[in-house]
Formats: sequence, structure tokens, C-alpha cells
Amino acid sequence: MHGKPLVYFDSAATAQKPSIVIQTISDFYRDHYATVHRAIYELAIRATEQYQQTRQKVQRFLHAKKREEIIFTRGTTESINLVAYSFGKAFVKPGDEILVSAMEHHSNIVPWQILCEERGAVLKVIPMNEKGELLLDEYAHLLNKRTKLVAVNQISNALGTVNPIKKMIQMAHEKGAKFLVDGAQSAPHIPVDVQDLDADFFVFSGHKVMGPTGIGILYGKEELLNQMPPYQGGGDMIEKVTFSHTTYNTLPFKFEAGTPMIAEIIGLGAAIDYMEQVGMENIQQWEAELLRYATAQIKDIPGLHIVGQAAEKRGGLISFIIDGIHPLDIGSLLDLHGIAIRTGHHCAQPVMDFFHISSTARASFAFYNTKEEIDYFVSCLQECIRKIKN
Ligand code: PLP
Repeated sequence: MHGKPLVYFDSAATAQKPSIVIQTISDFYRDHYATVHRAIYELAIRATEQYQQTRQKVQRFLHAKKREEIIFTRGTTESINLVAYSFGKAFVKPGDEILVSAMEHHSNIVPWQILCEERGAVLKVIPMNEKGELLLDEYAHLLNKRTKLVAVNQISNALGTVNPIKKMIQMAHEKGAKFLVDGAQSAPHIPVDVQDLDADFFVFSGHKVMGPTGIGILYGKEELLNQMPPYQGGGDMIEKVTFSHTTYNTLPFKFEAGTPMIAEIIGLGAAIDYMEQVGMENIQQWEAELLRYATAQIKDIPGLHIVGQAAEKRGGLISFIIDGIHPLDIGSLLDLHGIAIRTGHHCAQPVMDFFHISSTARASFAFYNTKEEIDYFVSCLQECIRKIKN
């Protein structure tokens, strides 16, 4: 980049791909390409097998009880929209309440707003403190008999906070509410066990777990998914169609209308194999070390403030602002050194409003990053600050 080796610190937005993922997708298109489900010829049977294997891999990756509980979507955003639409249609009535937290990504706010507007329900917000920690006492007060669903991220993309999701799920269940975990920032970085969490829904995106774009996952408890109506109508999701009446397919197909994202699903399977070979515990440990190393180096830079300082565990990202310098200028100057960081509101405008800022600079790490890259980033950052201030 600009004649320098790339330092990629934007994995919270999307992750780089291992060769095996690219290879698997191109092999599939070149040598094995066919549709799934519908054909009896060998090529399609093999494609169907490979595609179904991904469902099993995701089941294993999330420790789900059954593979029927794994629904393929286009991403976290579509998974949340699916639940808002279908769960909303089945369970949410006027006067009911949906809870989200103050640190959600727009994709875990707007679908619930749309649902609440349509059903006459009320959206309530679990507040946070200046460190970027959710206030669990306030959460306990907000939960009540009218709360139908709580939707909270496990790790915040804007602040790095790791939320105490297991405890929050238990608290929701005690009041009879269901819980959706936005795992977009956790599935790529920490081991996830949906049964241990007792999550009702867990969603994530393929492109953040080293897989391709255009594929995402919705995990849902079987008994809930069975009670929810389909999200879209079309091929594959039906059992029998007549002009007077249609009956629907069983799980997971009821929620997968149309020809699926076959190559992307197969690519996701390769990505999950890869992540598991590296080891989710190893990934978690290395990223924690990178975070510790980077935080120690940048925290004393004069005028630099880290936005999001949760005392408990934090995810591998640092959101920061520097007095008198716009984050956009930091990002643009670092880019000239070959360093890719994200600047902006990170699709979390309410978080920015809370801190009375319009944007931050965000460096986010993945297991392929190194301490040498952090050294280079810190020295370039200091140079940029000197340049702008002089
Ligand atoms: N939720 C969180 C916490 C995210 O970080 C993101 C993406 O940045 C999303 C949801 C939306 O993911 P996607 O755009 O892949 O659907």
C-alpha cells in the first residue's frame, strides 16, 4: 500500500481470507459446480454433500444441539432482520417491549425499531457508563413481564466491551424473555457455546470469521424456530404448493427460500475448519496479548483517549480519539504508511452520541496480526500527530 507492506487493522469490519478459503471456492466453481437439493446427478449430489457439511461444521463451531438449528442467511444483518420479522410476527403484540443495549450496531437497532413501529411495541435501551460497560442494575429494572426479547452484542464493535452475556441471558429467562446474541464480533475471536450460554438466537457473519461475504448464520433453538413463520417465500422453503394453500418445509429449509449461496456456504466451511485448526482458544489468547501490547504503547500518547475502557475482558480492538485531530485525518495519514484502520461512527451512532463525539479511529486485530505491526503502527501514529500539530 503506497509502496509499504500492508498492516491490516480493520478485521472488525471484515477479515482477510486464508488461501484455503479462496482455493475451496475457486475449486468448487471450476471443478465441482452444480446446484444443491434439486438434482439426482452426481455433480449436484456432491455439491449438496459439501454444502450440508458446512451446516454440521457450524453446528460444531457453535456447539448447537442440532444441525436443523443452523440457518444460512446473507449475514448478521439479515439474521437479525429474520428474527425481528418472524419472531415479531409470532410473539410480539402491542405494548410488548424489546430491549437492546446502548452499544449496539445499527443492524441490532433498526430491525427492532421497524418491528416496534409495526406491532405497536416499545423499544427500550439498557444504558452504559462512561467506561462502556452495561449497567446491569438498570437492566434488571427494565426487564419485566412485557419484555419479549433482549438483543445485545457479545462484543461491541465500537468499544471492544465484552458483555456478560451468559448472566444477561439468565436474567432475561427469569422474566420469560428470549435473548438474541449478536455474535458478529465474538464468533471470530472467542470460543462460543450456544448451549452453555443458553442463547435463544445467536447470529454472525461469514466474512468476519475468515469466510466469504454474502453468507451469515442464524442459530435458533428448534422449538422457537418451529413456532416462527417463514421470512421469505420461494423455492426450497415449501413442502407443497397449490394456488389455494402452501405448506412449508421443515427446519432449516423453512427459512432458506431460493437457491442458496452455495459457493459462499462451502467457503464458510473451509474458513471454520481453518479457524478450528488454529484453535479458538489460541486465537483468543493471542489477540488478548496484542490488545495488551498495543494498549500499553498508545495509552500514554499525549492527547490520546481510548473510547471504551471496560474493566473486565475486552475484545481485540482499540477505539480512540486524539485532542484537536479529526479521526479521518489520522486514518488518511496512516493509510499513506500502508496501515488500514477504520474511522467513522462504526455503524454505532448512538455510541458516538453518548460520548459526544462524531467518530473515532479504530484499530482492530485478528490472529494474523503481529507485535511488529503494532510497533510500526504506534511509531507512524506518533509521526502523524507530530506532522498535524506542527
Ligand atoms: N453487529 C456487529 C456488532 C457488527 O460489528 C456488525 C458488522 O460490523 C454487524 C452487526 C453487521 O454485520 P454484517 O454487516 O456482516 O451483516
